[in-house]
Amino acid sequence: MKFTEINLHENIQEGLDAIGFEKASPVQEFAIPLILEGKDIIASAQTGTGKTAAFLLPVMDKIMRSKRDGIQAIVIAPTRELAIQIDQNLEGFSYFTEVGSIAVYGGGDGKPFTQEKNALTRGTDVVICTPGRMISHLAGGYVNCDSITTLILDEADRMLDMGFFADIMKIISYLPKERQTLLFSATMPVKIRQLANQIQNKPETINIAVSKPPESIRQGAYSVYNNQKSGLIKQILKEKNLQTVVIFCSSKISTKELARELKRAKFSADEIHSDLDQLQRKEVLQKFRSRKINIIVATDILSRGIDIDNIDMVINYDVPHDAEDYVHRIGRTARAAAKGEAYTLIIPKEQHKFQSIEDLLGTTVEKLDVPEEFGETPKYEPDKQKKFSKFRKKRPDKNRNNRRKSGNNQNKKPSNQRKRKHFKPSEKNKK
Ligand code: AMP
Repeated sequence: MKFTEINLHENIQEGLDAIGFEKASPVQEFAIPLILEGKDIIASAQTGTGKTAAFLLPVMDKIMRSKRDGIQAIVIAPTRELAIQIDQNLEGFSYFTEVGSIAVYGGGDGKPFTQEKNALTRGTDVVICTPGRMISHLAGGYVNCDSITTLILDEADRMLDMGFFADIMKIISYLPKERQTLLFSATMPVKIRQLANQIQNKPETINIAVSKPPESIRQGAYSVYNNQKSGLIKQILKEKNLQTVVIFCSSKISTKELARELKRAKFSADEIHSDLDQLQRKEVLQKFRSRKINIIVATDILSRGIDIDNIDMVINYDVPHDAEDYVHRIGRTARAAAKGEAYTLIIPKEQHKFQSIEDLLGTTVEKLDVPEEFGETPKYEPDKQKKFSKFRKKRPDKNRNNRRKSGNNQNKKPSNQRKRKHFKPSEKNKK
């Protein structure tokens, strides 16, 4: 379906023409008309499907047709990166409109907080926020939520995984009861349904080919021993010699170690993980976008919510903890119909994890031969490995608390400067 058939406000259509969006993606085709009708929706759509435009375009359309002042929509997102990305998308779509927005997220030395406070006090059309920071502002008593008609939860499953349930409910307690609530989630576990029951009114369900990576991604996997991993990665990087590569690791420690090793071997690589503050992460991404570096080694912090197009190859240094994360990681390549490659290194004790990924995909991923010079490699026998693991003694996971903390610390890391301006000139004139 073409966007012109959806009848969005002409100034929004003008913006879409300018950025070259002609045909609506499936989630857009289903969601936009329902949202324009005022329905609550619960949509399972993974990143890369165009879900951001699916909620932003109709919400902007509603704002342009309403005569209201003040904040009209609030988008809650799990990470500052995603909040910034949504805000940037909105800036693009709203270029020919007067719809204004502000991204409100953790970090900062007080100056940005004051800027956010002033903007929120004045009111802007769309607030895009991470939960913790928004609660701090709401608690200050200067945010008038009476004019809010739409609440959007983006990557709701991720937010619940990060322990934001109570924060979301707290934010909702400030919002008008009469409102439209749009819930987007990559996965639909029971807890998402329960959340929907609590905060939505007879939502329409949209289910877009859940958890299947685009067919344009060439997937492969290598069965290896732990001590063969970094050597193989270097070999793949050398052989393929690609411009944009992201390597995902499951922990900060392995991310840092691998990045160090690649740099030592003179690869043009850098790292992204939660020990870097937002400005540092932004700088790495900027270097990557401008091709000053070709390789990013990252934790899952990068697997969702970062909008980098044209990634040539994704390598999973570790098998992701969660099958859904696999889809998110490899979804970083082949965005918007480009072609991409995704390879996973599987050590014996992670074979059963990889098998559940294949179950979720409904297909097997091709197992590739490791070059002979690496010596003997383990057979891929996940069923056998599963039997062994039953006999392995369960040890308490010492890192668990740390891991939780690192997932939740988005408001704790100071970041001194924020260069981005939150307001377009039209926004300043408008209010
Ligand atoms: P998202 O799933 O919202 O992160 O979008 C994934 C990517 O697809 C982004 O780079 C969007 O700019 C792009 N995109 C979204 N919708 C369309 C569309 N209808 N036509 C072309 N590109 C799109």
